[in-house]
Amino acid sequence: MRLSKNFIPTVKEIPSDALIPSHQLMLRAGMIRSLSAGVYSFLPLGYKILKKAMEIIRDEMDAIGGQEFYLPALNPIELWEETGRVKAFGDTMFHLKNRPLVLAPTHEEVICSIAKNHLKSYRDLPQIWYQIQMKFRNEPRPRSGVIRGRQFFMKDSYSLDATWEGLDVNYDLHAEAYKKMFTRAGLKFFIVGASSGAMGGSASQEFMLESESGEDTCTVCDGCGYAANMEVATSALQKAHRDNESKAITEISTPNVGTIDELKEFLKIEERYLAKSLVFMQDKTPILVLMMGNDQLNESKLLSALGSDFRSCHPDELKSLTGADAGSIGPIGLQGFKIIVDRRLQGGNNLVSGANKNDYHIANIDLQRDIKIDGYFDLRTVNAGEPCPKCSKPLRVVNAIELGHIFKLGTKYSDALHAYYLDENGKEKPIIMGSYGIGVERVVACFIEQNNDKNGIVWNNALAPYHVHLIQVNSNNEKVVSIAESLYKKLQESLVDVLFDDRDDVSPGFKFKDADLIGIPLQIIVGEKNVNSGNVEMKSRSTGKRDIIEISKVCQYVEKFLES
Ligand code: ATP
Ligand code: MG
Repeated sequence: MRLSKNFIPTVKEIPSDALIPSHQLMLRAGMIRSLSAGVYSFLPLGYKILKKAMEIIRDEMDAIGGQEFYLPALNPIELWEETGRVKAFGDTMFHLKNRPLVLAPTHEEVICSIAKNHLKSYRDLPQIWYQIQMKFRNEPRPRSGVIRGRQFFMKDSYSLDATWEGLDVNYDLHAEAYKKMFTRAGLKFFIVGASSGAMGGSASQEFMLESESGEDTCTVCDGCGYAANMEVATSALQKAHRDNESKAITEISTPNVGTIDELKEFLKIEERYLAKSLVFMQDKTPILVLMMGNDQLNESKLLSALGSDFRSCHPDELKSLTGADAGSIGPIGLQGFKIIVDRRLQGGNNLVSGANKNDYHIANIDLQRDIKIDGYFDLRTVNAGEPCPKCSKPLRVVNAIELGHIFKLGTKYSDALHAYYLDENGKEKPIIMGSYGIGVERVVACFIEQNNDKNGIVWNNALAPYHVHLIQVNSNNEKVVSIAESLYKKLQESLVDVLFDDRDDVSPGFKFKDADLIGIPLQIIVGEKNVNSGNVEMKSRSTGKRDIIEISKVCQYVEKFLES
């Protein structure tokens, strides 16, 4: 393709509205343009790369027996009402004004509605159905370029099985396919067990990419490879010790002591003896949560523990429920509260907590002796440096981007939409489903997050929009032009996809900068000096290594380069 005739609007300055490297570089390299918040146009170069990512994904989906569908984005709202997901998605779902239609944010409902009418016998199962289609989500804060779009391509697949063993097989097939796709795309990823959240299923794993631009947080262990989403991450931190003797409970005066650090200082005791109280409301029930010292509560873990939504208490509410303000609240003497405790405190005695009276605390609480506890759960947020739960090496806490998600859905949607099949005994049973998603734009943007330098993007052969970037340096030199033109022809004849910078109105320096910015793996530089001695220069974008080679050997060189 000739740059002189084609539309690749590169920009040298960093666009001020783009905050993360992939967004900046996709704009600068002429891959995308923003239309409105979270909505992007893919220009020809960007779309070419996106299609390469789709091809890798499609290839691996086909390899596990996936069958590709094309499903509508316009969905009747009643279908989503049947599964309760109009409410579950809330404002994230786009609604149409002039018809009872919504724009599909995912496709479990549509898949189920097809399965219900056609997969009626165990003999029709299993199936893997997938599509690479536009999804619409009214993301509240789209500020990471195409990593979080309001309209984006998702590869979503669904396994449909008669047995739970079948679901396990299809889940594992997807996990393997995802590893292959992301490896082929050149992404350095890790896999975490995730919380199943609002989707309501059993096992689930996320494929994550470590990146400062990530909106998720994970813990990773460089020692053994343990990795987990913060929503479920644990560490091997010591639990509370149990002292040999449980002392008698006493009220102590603690004037002007509010925080855990102040209390620690005031009482001159170790943090592990302090039980911090947090109060939430779940529907009409007040919940007291006890955490050790300064341990931070993880709200996702609390949500899993409580099983349904909760909210923080307002200060007035807190006072009327407990008789005290935050900082003086504790588990002793509360009426009508559900009390749940972080596992790290399990077995603890001689603990100090609020007295439900401002400026007072209670000392020597024995959790077993003094409180009726409704449950112990892992509720704390892991901190960097804590020992890995598997190998005890220090954990790192990193920002990460979710590339893909695999998920054992079970029968939630088939039950809701009555997608039943008849088993061997003629008994009606719900189809067992799995759901598996990948953000296609994220694959591309994530690759850029991991593969760029100060000059631009550094593509690998798998995602590069063209195999080689042929640069005709001096467009006023006849010999240069004729050699460049003949190389362009010859390479195309050898089925090499060439981006040919044949522009005669820009300087050589400008062309070199564009080539580095766009980032095609191999540059062929046809300049006056080398051409006069029968040579051209080959430059590897990733290593910067340059080779001077004979013009007649170019095709051979390129072939070898592309194999590597
Ligand atoms: P996130 O937590 O980042 O919002 P999600 O949990 O909502 O992701 P899923 O519903 O599991 O995502 O969707 C499957 C995949 O689709 C994700 O793993 C991600 O790669 C991609 N994806 C989700 N939301 C977006 C978005 N707004 N823009 C681009 N890709 C997205
Ligand atoms: Mg989301």
